[in-house]
Amino acid sequence: MSKTFDIGIDALRQNHGNGDLPPDSVGSRHAVPVSIIAPPEVSRAKSFYIETFGCQMNVHDSEKVAGVLLGRGYRAVDDAAQADLLLYNTCSIREKAAQKVFSRLNDFKFAAKANEKVIAVLGCVAQQEGEEIFERAPWVSLVCGSASYRKLPELFERLESGGRRVTGLDLDTEETFETEITRRDNPFRAYLTIIEGCDYSCAYCVVPHTRGPERSRASDSVLAEVRRLADAGYTEIQLLGQTVNSYRDPSPRGLNFAGMLRAVAKIDGIRRVRFTTSHPNDFRREIIEAIDEIPALCDHIHLPVQSGSTRILKAMRRTYNREEYLEKLSWIRSSRRPISVTSDVIIGFPGETDEDFKETLTLLDAAQFDSVFAFKYSPRPNTPSLSMPDVIPEEEKSRRLAILQERQRQIQIARNEKLVGETFEVLVDGRHAARGQWSGRTTSNRILNFTSSRENILGEYLQVRVTRGGPNSLVGEHAELQ
Ligand code: SAM
Ligand code: SF4
Repeated sequence: MSKTFDIGIDALRQNHGNGDLPPDSVGSRHAVPVSIIAPPEVSRAKSFYIETFGCQMNVHDSEKVAGVLLGRGYRAVDDAAQADLLLYNTCSIREKAAQKVFSRLNDFKFAAKANEKVIAVLGCVAQQEGEEIFERAPWVSLVCGSASYRKLPELFERLESGGRRVTGLDLDTEETFETEITRRDNPFRAYLTIIEGCDYSCAYCVVPHTRGPERSRASDSVLAEVRRLADAGYTEIQLLGQTVNSYRDPSPRGLNFAGMLRAVAKIDGIRRVRFTTSHPNDFRREIIEAIDEIPALCDHIHLPVQSGSTRILKAMRRTYNREEYLEKLSWIRSSRRPISVTSDVIIGFPGETDEDFKETLTLLDAAQFDSVFAFKYSPRPNTPSLSMPDVIPEEEKSRRLAILQERQRQIQIARNEKLVGETFEVLVDGRHAARGQWSGRTTSNRILNFTSSRENILGEYLQVRVTRGGPNSLVGEHAELQ
């Protein structure tokens, strides 16, 4: 069983299902196989455990890797110590990713050396460090980057027949990773990657080096999977891609991203369609027009700006300037539905002056984001910004980060307080037993913690009235209590 980070509520953790079924004990959900292909019987049912670090795409990659293993007759376990095969799906977007992985790998060194465990390293650190991992941790048997996941059946076969130092490190691919079975770890929201890799070359970013070139998945295959998910009881789908809105259907149908959004939202049973992450450069008005027209398309857009300074955006190679970003934001703000906008910001990129930083602060004031993920710039291997001059000292980055976070906190408090008295539909996805509260998300992706006189409401859509607004979430009452 993999460790996931999307569901923050203990009640859900107990509900992770094995196989590609959403758990049948949740809300009104019923268990119907996502895939009709059953895992084969195996005499020696080997067990596996996947530990996942990083973004939603990594979480979903792990769901698909788990599907491949279940398809080979492996059994998921929820304790790393119990697993015959231990997989680390790693992230290298920031900080000392490689060191962390090596220190984690050390924990299982002796079990691996005693042939009690087979260890695999997947994801961005695997791609970045490559065969060097075997040198530093010789007890690792498989190193595979995400661009080679489609070869996993073959790589697992080599491991099963005693192969060691097995690698999947090709980056040059036009293929996407599709699985016959996908184990869904989130019972309420089904992730679905529609575009892999990235063709941008932002100066600070490892993704093009670790995930390979951009490649979109054929629309027929995406839509067939959404239909199976709807049949299995999922009502909310989240389309994923590093630049999800660059989607270009490689099949003759030729859907662009807005066309894909419309097609997914039309599928019977689908009530909510989310997507992340949108690149500002590929952001078109037709995405907003689609959201305006189709209630099933969620009114939330995550549109990372990275900096408010045109000079820094240019150094970052972001392909847009401050004014162009704000113009696209003004399209969103003039939509008929009030669309919530969230963003990412990098603080302390090389050469960022006080003046540049102030421009990021004034952009926050102008943009009025509903939430911002702010990161201190982290120098990454093989990226152009690694050798840029005028490095900002760590203490200065921390100082700027604290200022920015406080400014954004005030914006969020003010925005959330304005929502008091309004009623929103939430999909209930958690229970805080100690606080006597349920938790759900609005279509705009706000977290609403609320009380209700009803029991067993996980997975239901309910109308909840907001009674209080905090910086990061709302508090409310389910309408039946009023
Ligand atoms: N593809 C998305 C885009 O272009 O907006 C971003 C994907 S990246 C996985 C998520 C976020 O990590 C970025 O938006 C950026 O803010 C942050 N990030 C990426 N590289 C970074 C670095 N070297 N240092 C600090 N933050 C970084
Ligand atoms: Fe990285 Fe830029 Fe690609 Fe986003 S668009 S994944 S930040 S290179």
